[in-house]
Amino acid sequence: MLDVAGLCPICEAESRFVARDPWFRDHLLCVQCGSLPRERALMATLHRFYPHWRELRIHESSPAPRGASLKLRRECPGYIGSHYEPSIPFGEVHPEHGLRSEDLERQTFADERFDLVITQDVFEHLFRPDLAAAEIARTLAVGGAHVFTAPMPLQGPSVRRARRGEDGEIEHLDVPVYHGNPIDDSGSLVTIDYGLDMVPWLDGCSGLTTTIVMIDDLSQGIRAELNEVLVSRKIAARLEI
Ligand SMILES: [Zn+2]
Repeated sequence: MLDVAGLCPICEAESRFVARDPWFRDHLLCVQCGSLPRERALMATLHRFYPHWRELRIHESSPAPRGASLKLRRECPGYIGSHYEPSIPFGEVHPEHGLRSEDLERQTFADERFDLVITQDVFEHLFRPDLAAAEIARTLAVGGAHVFTAPMPLQGPSVRRARRGEDGEIEHLDVPVYHGNPIDDSGSLVTIDYGLDMVPWLDGCSGLTTTIVMIDDLSQGIRAELNEVLVSRKIAARLEI
């Protein structure tokens, strides 16, 4: 379907990008690091806007066992990865995989603890993305940013597919859709199909200011549907009139 040579922003080396399915978002893989286009787009965004990312304090929620997540974990001494793992007290580190147990919507991290927070295709699975966005903003230092991917398939307003009722039970508002989850074979339920209102809505919840980065560059293996990277900055407003 596609087999092209290029410079992978995760490998930071020549590689090949191969897809055997026309849906590049899930199938255009780097043959060396196994990354997806959205992971290469996120890494290219970090190289461009935060070239000193290796020296920063980074929190990534729900890292993947490949691609950009592994690179950040290996090369950034200030990196902390976390998973939602209620079997372990929140704030404690899992003894085997070394990831911290955190509820993204109610984090135990101190205020302004990080320079960057990374989430890759997490927000479409959250029941309370408003709380998660506010918590991410709380844990960011001024000047920091939440750099993330989340598919925005709708041209109109976002549509909720599932929510959690007052009794804690999941209520399906549409046919359940699941995406792959690195620590759960059954996959993650999609709670929201986002539309163009996602950015202003999340900015309103977090107080952050979002820029959408769209890269289409086959020489870096970055070509796919729904491949935007969002950079939500914590900006201190100091202008006085
Ligand atoms: Zn690669």
